[in-house]
Amino acid sequence: MSDQTLNHAARGVLSLEAYSPGMPIDELQRRLGVSNAIKLASNENPLGPSARVRAALAAAVARENIALYPDGSGHRLKKKIAALHDIAIERITLGNGSNDIIELLGRVFLGPGRAALYSAHAFAVYSIITQAQDARAVVVPARPAGDAQPYGHDLPAMAAALKAHADVALVFIANPNNPTGTVLAPAEIEAFLDQAPADVIVALDEAYFEYLDPALRPPTRAWLERYPNLIVFRTFSKAYGLAGLRVGYSLSSAALADVLNRVRQPFNNNSLALLAAEVALDDQDYVARSVDLNTRERARLTRELGKRGLRVLPSQANFVAIDFGRDAKPIHQGLLEQGVIVRPLASYEMPTFLRVSIGTEAENERFLEALGKVLAA
Ligand SMILES: *Cc1c(COP(=O)(O)O)cnc(C)c1O
Repeated sequence: MSDQTLNHAARGVLSLEAYSPGMPIDELQRRLGVSNAIKLASNENPLGPSARVRAALAAAVARENIALYPDGSGHRLKKKIAALHDIAIERITLGNGSNDIIELLGRVFLGPGRAALYSAHAFAVYSIITQAQDARAVVVPARPAGDAQPYGHDLPAMAAALKAHADVALVFIANPNNPTGTVLAPAEIEAFLDQAPADVIVALDEAYFEYLDPALRPPTRAWLERYPNLIVFRTFSKAYGLAGLRVGYSLSSAALADVLNRVRQPFNNNSLALLAAEVALDDQDYVARSVDLNTRERARLTRELGKRGLRVLPSQANFVAIDFGRDAKPIHQGLLEQGVIVRPLASYEMPTFLRVSIGTEAENERFLEALGKVLAA
């Protein structure tokens, strides 16, 4: 007897593979019986949340009436975001993480007969939403392995593909990109925006913006005035250290924000998360410290891995992609057995790579030591 319960499920969803997140520490400890495991697998802030956020949350738990629904408009947080970017509140959309924004865009702009365009080796969530919406994916080959930005987006090729495929409704660009860490020159992005038709939405994912070298930061805010089809998203999950609370946001035209708002869950951000994000935005010292640590440790880790003869992709984010030149699965497994969780990239068609988030100095040392043992074995 065949199971008919899924007969009417969306075709795209049935052929989908669920996103596989970095393994939680508890799960590794349970599965392998190791203790003191460390996780360098999901690009979280190794400093944890700022002390000010912790204190505000503790006070809020005692004070806030969580029996009440949160402010569904997120007004107080939006006011702070508006001040930070000098933008009208009507142009801000809050998401349950920026993943939520990606999903809202998919729901509004993707469906049968329409396509999303993105690069090979780009953030996995773009393909998941495309497939879930039964839309077509136009995946543009990335830059070659020998390029200055290896495996990075090839924007001229993406512009050519955009011209060739009239059904493209939505373009995803991640800058810096996850999992490669590669970056795009602002002039390249601008040239792409100049060529994109006015009715194609260009989604610029700036999840790692804070980690970018200031000289490489695009003038995204000014672009929003010039390109009404541009939407930019940021997150509190990385440099702001709030991945567990799920807050992200987008900046766009008011018209685009308005349609996203129509499909947004009415209370997609909980009250404690809204409060934590407000306090985090005010604690820019913590962000600066987090970025400093990352810049220092990323350089050191890259140097140390280089000394061991390993190729590390140039990264402008809070992680590095390491090419082992052979199947990285056994190395991943070996690291797990040493209590070190990193991210395999086989699902990104980079089976010889592992992605390692930049940790504290002690965590990075622990990783290097474990890697030494695994490679010697
Ligand atoms: C981590 C990440 C995000 C942020 O996800 P959240 O839902 O905000 O936690 C978005 N885009 C990319 C490319 C990322 O790597």
